[in-house]
Amino acid sequence: MRTRCARLMRFAAASISAMMLFAAAACGSQTSSEQPAQTNPGTTSQQKATGPITVVSSINQWGSLAAELGGDDVKVTSIVNTTNVDAHDFEPKTSDIAKLSKAQIVIANGAGYDSWATKALGKSSSLVSAASVVGAMEGDNPHLWFSKDARSGMAEAITDAYIKALPSKKKDFQQRLKTWQQGEKSLEKWTGDFTKNHSKLTYAATEPVAYYLMADLGFDDATPKGYAQSVASEGESAPADLQSFQQLIEKRSIDVLINNTQEASDATNMITGTAGRSDVPVVDVSEQMPEKAESLNAWINQLVNTIIDAVDPSYGCEANEDSESADGTDEANGADDTADADGNGSADGTQNTENGDADTGASGTDATEQQDGSDTATTQSDKDSTPNFIRECKASKSSSQQSDTSSNDSDSSDSSQEPDTKQPDPGK
Ligand SMILES: [Zn+2]
Repeated sequence: MRTRCARLMRFAAASISAMMLFAAAACGSQTSSEQPAQTNPGTTSQQKATGPITVVSSINQWGSLAAELGGDDVKVTSIVNTTNVDAHDFEPKTSDIAKLSKAQIVIANGAGYDSWATKALGKSSSLVSAASVVGAMEGDNPHLWFSKDARSGMAEAITDAYIKALPSKKKDFQQRLKTWQQGEKSLEKWTGDFTKNHSKLTYAATEPVAYYLMADLGFDDATPKGYAQSVASEGESAPADLQSFQQLIEKRSIDVLINNTQEASDATNMITGTAGRSDVPVVDVSEQMPEKAESLNAWINQLVNTIIDAVDPSYGCEANEDSESADGTDEANGADDTADADGNGSADGTQNTENGDADTGASGTDATEQQDGSDTATTQSDKDSTPNFIRECKASKSSSQQSDTSSNDSDSSDSSQEPDTKQPDPGK
């Protein structure tokens, strides 16, 4: 799985300078586990209107988005911020409740996922709820952060709440939203392109954490119904249901198994074991955002790439070229890169590579910029702050294969901006 065939992700394709701002803002405010502004507990609302907004998010997925969108104008605390808890059975501490009740803005997921958060809402707190944004009810699949519709709706709703709380920073909030939307659009294009190029892919899941993500990617859910129902009701799976799940895997009737690492049990261990013996690829997906993830979209982008690696390892790699040249030396290959306007990163990093991939950007402008500017040199300085994402390809490719890749790229980058038709239904 570890490969040298590193390919910069298309998600970073939007304007690099814009992304720099975006990254700087995001990094400056990733305070998932910090204390909220407790230095002046007696703040009045007038005073609050000038300082950073105190935001408490029930879960770090939405907390990360809130931090990105708020920059220095917010102080975000996420209550559930580790992948080591059972998110569905999380019980807040007294101090968590206190944080929630003091927050100016509480961000919750809803749909029964974190009802403890809304119960603790203070009288003067305003609530932004993902379930409300998309109209999801308790009983619906609650893993809304994996839904592109929910993400976009939440980004707008959070920004609205920020503007209400701190009107003097309206323009800043609007700008951050715009920047975020560019990144989201690139991510959606990347997933949409994959969907257009693949049909009839199926998956099964030990727990439906990635339901919306798989729907966005065009996968059909083949998880045996009985098993899925028992998981949904948090009950034990009947032996017969486990057996049909195992048979499904043994017959290799699915393209990939999604394994929720935060909801592991004897049953899920048995299922993943069967997948291992049957050569069915397993992709681990957690509920919460891993600590090392840079942002909500960066994490999702990586998951998308991992899923692509599992079902079609060469997808997106044809255009990939010289990643073989490995660690760091790519930077010297500016001439090659300009051929396809494709940044290419050092092969061993998973996130922080230096260059933006321009080829499938939402707009074609980046490609032009890079071609003009002999790319790698200009992006060198962005290395530290630009959130770039790599497509790590399973199959290592020889660097000699890289020529003529621009045609591949243009196939998938014909700036077709029509939204893909397989919109997931967040209400499901
Ligand atoms: Zn779950």
